[in-house]
Amino acid sequence: MIDARLDEAPRAGPVPRLELESWRAAYGLVAGVTGRGAGFNLGLFSDEPRAQVTARWEALFGEMRPGFRGFAVGRQVHARRLATHGPTLAGWQVLDGVDGHLTAHPGVLLFVTVADCVPIYLAHPDSGAVALLHAGWRGIAAGMLETGVSALCDLTKSVESAIVMHCGVAICGTCYEVGSEVHAAVRHVAEPARGPLDLRAELLARAGRLGIRQATASGWCTAHHRDRFFSHRASGGVDGRMVAYLGRPLS
Ligand SMILES: [Zn+2]
Repeated sequence: MIDARLDEAPRAGPVPRLELESWRAAYGLVAGVTGRGAGFNLGLFSDEPRAQVTARWEALFGEMRPGFRGFAVGRQVHARRLATHGPTLAGWQVLDGVDGHLTAHPGVLLFVTVADCVPIYLAHPDSGAVALLHAGWRGIAAGMLETGVSALCDLTKSVESAIVMHCGVAICGTCYEVGSEVHAAVRHVAEPARGPLDLRAELLARAGRLGIRQATASGWCTAHHRDRFFSHRASGGVDGRMVAYLGRPLS
């Protein structure tokens, strides 16, 4: 079904994170996002000393082993370039200029960095192949969702109706006021002035047009729930970064 709400649930443990329990139960996939915690910034390209940030990543990897042995991250540029990861990926790989990842293999955990932008989780449950995309307004306008869905269909030799989608923790429509040029770029409609933009609603509408039959959106808002999440917009640009993650664990 399109437009059903599906909230990530907090998990206990040293690393602050929330997960889609139903994706684990129904598809055998690990799909989640880290939280703010007591300053659990995972932004690799922030002002914070890299060693501190790296130590947090290592703590997260520690919680994900032994189900995963390869960890794929991109230095994101708000475009739509994707990287496809094979079964031999091991350790931590950081790729330049990549905003989305795909894999058909278990043991590979995909990451995107977020703090208002939407993490788009895509899965082909029949094969276990997954894709994880980073999409703010620029990425949506550039066709990130369409590119990612097409790539996952190619990878699985499947069709859009066999793919399931979730739009994760992101800024909500109420909290995200943007100018007319952003509305024009994302929605292809002329707005006379500034107004709120719901990125996840736009993505769900696009998913429906693509032929995806099952798409959901998180009810969590990064700006409404700043006690749990980082928000670039609500912090005036000084907050840290969370990561969304998606993969099929080794059995
Ligand atoms: Zn909000």
